[in-house]
Amino acid sequence: MTKKFYQLSARERLEAMDLTPSLTAFYRERQSDEMPNLIENYFADFTLPEGLLRHLVVDGRSYQVPMVTEEPSVVAAANNGARLVGQAGGFQSHQTSQSLLGGQILFQDVAIDELLAYVSEQREAIFEAAKLAKPSMVERGDGLKDVQIRSLAGRRASLDLTVQTGEAMGANAVNTILEAVKAVFQPFSKNIVAAILTNAGHDALVTVTTQMPVSLVGGLAVAKAIVSLSAFGKVDPDRAVTENKGIFNGLSAVVLATGNDYRAVEAAGHAYAGSTGRYQSLSTWKLDDTGEFLLGSLTMPVNIGRLGGAIAAMPMAQRNLELLGAPSLGALKKVIVATGLANNLAALKAVSGPGIQAGHMRMQARTLAIQVGAVGDEVLKVANGLAAEGAVDQNHAKKILGEIRK
Ligand code: NDP
Repeated sequence: MTKKFYQLSARERLEAMDLTPSLTAFYRERQSDEMPNLIENYFADFTLPEGLLRHLVVDGRSYQVPMVTEEPSVVAAANNGARLVGQAGGFQSHQTSQSLLGGQILFQDVAIDELLAYVSEQREAIFEAAKLAKPSMVERGDGLKDVQIRSLAGRRASLDLTVQTGEAMGANAVNTILEAVKAVFQPFSKNIVAAILTNAGHDALVTVTTQMPVSLVGGLAVAKAIVSLSAFGKVDPDRAVTENKGIFNGLSAVVLATGNDYRAVEAAGHAYAGSTGRYQSLSTWKLDDTGEFLLGSLTMPVNIGRLGGAIAAMPMAQRNLELLGAPSLGALKKVIVATGLANNLAALKAVSGPGIQAGHMRMQARTLAIQVGAVGDEVLKVANGLAAEGAVDQNHAKKILGEIRK
């Protein structure tokens, strides 16, 4: 019997894909032993650049932070923001001490009173089912911690579970517990629509703050400009979404470098940004009462792990955690959020000051040089040539490369 595509080895898949010999050879060189089991239909590794945030100070400790991103200027901005904050003593963090992830059992056409009465009657059975589903968690002091009913519009309700997930993000653990708890609700089986974790992260908030003399950002006028721009992020969703994108530039680069689920972190962050009913920037920048200090803060949910998921399977994630100094899960979360705030500061400073385009142009010139075929030393020569001519486009890049190669 012929195997289905998903049953083939990575090598066999390339043959089945009917590619040109050069494309087959290209992908074959990019197959590894570590990644095939992480996803389905694997046929090659896709590499991304990893850059270093050299010196991030959080709660008095200095970290070297790995950042994985394909976007120019992101790592430079993180270093820039972190350097300024570092001169003021670094970032401070505040967070819930435990890792908590939520789960939902969703009911429809339900009489809320009956459901409430049943939950209160079955409370012990619910906790017992959760314990039997994941005894290892309970042994570690983790597992189901709370159960609440939330009434929703149109005779709907959500049974909200709060699960302590230890050192892991806990997505699979929560789903396993939900399946077991669902069985306790046999009398309501016709009303149950789904049992699934929520990425909302209400109980996983991390806050990072900084207080810096205005002189560090270039004086009171610059600080005021940063504060003004930040205020737009509170009243205009169009501005807020761009500001939050800038935060995730840094934040997600660290989430990715440590093998964590950046989609989960970003979804939770955006939901939190809209939690007042209007989508707002996640960070806040203001002046203190004396006008001498710029105060910055960033609060958002962070459900990640330092083990489990893909972390153990990806050697780069393991090494990156080592590079970070094998931080506790709490420390890793604050490093992630602090990097987001560092990027945010650099972006606000650039946008409210001379504009972001100058720095971007330099990086774009290098990207353009590579696009037109520059290699090695040529990249910088072409980029410098473009900057000197003040025209960053492909035609100029080609012309300069041609001149260099004459
Ligand atoms: P795992 O399924 O890998 O579970 C964690 C593993 O670590 C378990 O085997 C657990 O052992 C073990 N472990 C050892 N020590 C500890 C400790 N101190 N604390 C906690 N666990 C420990 O990972 P997660 O449940 O964290 O799931 C994360 C993955 O799920 C990510 O890859 C994510 O992308 C994915 N995912 C995300 C979803 C979402 O966000 N909506 C949905 C579904 C999946 P034991 O079993 O003995 O407890």
